[in-house]
Amino acid sequence: MKCKLCKKEARINLRSYNLKLCNACFIEFFKKRVRETTEKFKMCSLKDVICLAASGGKDSFALWDVLHKLGYETSGLFIDLGIDGYSRLCREKVVAFSQKTNLPLKIVDIKDELGYSIREVARRANKVPCSICGMVKRYIMNRETGAFDCLATGHTLDDEASVALGNILQWQTGYLERQYPVLQENQSLKKKIKPFTFTFEKEIKLYAQIAEIEYVKEKCPFSANATSLLYKKAFDILEERMPHIKLSFYKKLVKKRFFIPEEEVKLRPCRRCGYLTVDEVCNFCKLKEKLSSSSGSR
Ligand code: SF4
Ligand code: ZN
Repeated sequence: MKCKLCKKEARINLRSYNLKLCNACFIEFFKKRVRETTEKFKMCSLKDVICLAASGGKDSFALWDVLHKLGYETSGLFIDLGIDGYSRLCREKVVAFSQKTNLPLKIVDIKDELGYSIREVARRANKVPCSICGMVKRYIMNRETGAFDCLATGHTLDDEASVALGNILQWQTGYLERQYPVLQENQSLKKKIKPFTFTFEKEIKLYAQIAEIEYVKEKCPFSANATSLLYKKAFDILEERMPHIKLSFYKKLVKKRFFIPEEEVKLRPCRRCGYLTVDEVCNFCKLKEKLSSSSGSR
């Protein structure tokens, strides 16, 4: 098997592109796709300073690594959710990556923010951890991006395609419209970018291996029952039979932007913190109130 680009021995077979590559050409191919994605959607420029949401997993590390190698100025942000052994492991890996690459990092601990771990926050709020966690992370990431030009997250093609599939199956048209590779700044809401939006997870894994990036392989213990995993599996079965279906499905969705609601949702600043929200008080401030009233009663 020969590399299609340099004719040396190929080690990688990208079925979705019908492309065989050697390791060195794969790395260049990978970087090129990220650069083209950031340029196509005008995500960021080399003058920008990017806040990078680092979780400890392969996707965010690979993104941090590749953006840095493409010449972007980046600074990491890690949110410690206080999940038993898992968060400690993630924190250690993120700190080690930042030290090895000499890239700045900020850590926000949820126990400093809300007084409890995410498990305990969810218990006191009578919610499942993931629904609280998503909202809390979005809030903190947005706030911490304040001094930066944008927030970059490691959402992959697999994430985006499976979320879109779930939204279509449930006819969540409002969510579909907001699902886009870049969300522009809107008053207190900072610009958000997803440079891996057209990059397969398995390619990210290969990149991380070749670039010798150490990451946490365990999944968050709360992720086991996530329906998003079911949609991902469904897509993987389709992709087995129809290589390219994931990419073409998601590319077409992005291109057409089918589901634009007739009326924009009216957002206004939260009365407590100024974060844009649909209600008078944002969900984060409501959660804080709930936790402070529950702390006396338990
Ligand atoms: Fe948070 Fe749920 Fe993801 Fe774990 S799986 S990090 S609890 S959203
Ligand atoms: Zn608020």
